[in-house]
Amino acid sequence: MNHPSRRHVLGGLCACSALALAGCQTTGSPAGRVNAGYRPDLASDEGALWYFMDREEQSYKRSRFVLRDAALNDYVREVVSRLADAHSGDIRTYIMRTPYFNASMAPNGMMQVWTGLMLRAQNEAQLAAVLGHEIGHYLERHTLQRVRAAREQGDLAAVLGIGLGVAGVGALSNISNLMILANLYAFSRDQERQADQIGIELMSAAGYAPIEASAVWAQLIEERSADPDPKSGGVLFATHPSSEERMQTLKTQAESFEKPGQDLFADRYRQALAPLRRTLFDDELRLRQYPRSLKLFEIIARTQGEDALVAFYSGEVYRLRHADGDRPQAIAAYERAQTLADCPVDVHRSLGLVHLQAGDRTAAERAFGEYLRLNPTANDRQMIQSYLTVSPS
Ligand SMILES: [Zn+2]
Repeated sequence: MNHPSRRHVLGGLCACSALALAGCQTTGSPAGRVNAGYRPDLASDEGALWYFMDREEQSYKRSRFVLRDAALNDYVREVVSRLADAHSGDIRTYIMRTPYFNASMAPNGMMQVWTGLMLRAQNEAQLAAVLGHEIGHYLERHTLQRVRAAREQGDLAAVLGIGLGVAGVGALSNISNLMILANLYAFSRDQERQADQIGIELMSAAGYAPIEASAVWAQLIEERSADPDPKSGGVLFATHPSSEERMQTLKTQAESFEKPGQDLFADRYRQALAPLRRTLFDDELRLRQYPRSLKLFEIIARTQGEDALVAFYSGEVYRLRHADGDRPQAIAAYERAQTLADCPVDVHRSLGLVHLQAGDRTAAERAFGEYLRLNPTANDRQMIQSYLTVSPS
């Protein structure tokens, strides 16, 4: 994938590490595939890179964006183990609460999995496709290759200077700036192709159906197609090669396996994600990218079947977007949600709000009443009651 964490790689390196890297000899093994258990010589440029990444990783361990749920972390680690096999002990995974589609790999084996990816993967095989790609970057030491190439061209300081300049305005916490940095530090086109190739080989060898790798891209392309401003998609769609090329190449590669893996593990994936699912939907909603979210929810409903949460959150998009024709769509979605198992109680509050907007006080009172009956300790009880007592203007 594209690699926003590289803002941390280079941002974290700062001037001191630029000097350290510039001063280090290109020693140790030439950049090629690592062996299991690999640690670079500390005196080499790679050693310096790892040293600073290890320090960066310490700060990640304290980050409030890291999800620490033990069961979910165990689950993702298991997927990594299946893929990375002998290398699995060299890769550490951090699940980052960031609602965009991405995963990333630092040169020292620190892998990030973003929650936006977890919402978009339809099954374990799709998650494995992306993680396998990231493992490919690690195995082939792509960051080291980039650092060496930058130094040979004499522009390492320039690259770092740009990074520090943007970071210097105190904007590292600002997601759009993170994305600018991500684009600056993207891996090369050939490295992305190689990581795709390795990823699909690893997933098929681990038993996953390799065709799911191209399905990931097909879904993302479809999601983007719903966006009136496709450039707003951020990191992902600035990738090289293009999403279309990657989808096609991965499809061809999947069809070339003599004995491809077969597993999707859709149920197991769904189960592992269940405790997190509402958070993922809430975070997606907060992006206020309504056409994309609607398309995403449509893809999830089509692939996994529409459940109460997908229907409810589709209703939420219509309610919040509040465009012409959205109100009946919201009501229809909420009504579908109510017919499905495990419908969140909030559906009644949302219905009440939509009816209130429409000036239908009777329907609003009925829905709010139901909400408070089912959720007697609701912390918005007072607000809801005030809706009911305020006379219509
Ligand atoms: Zn990549």
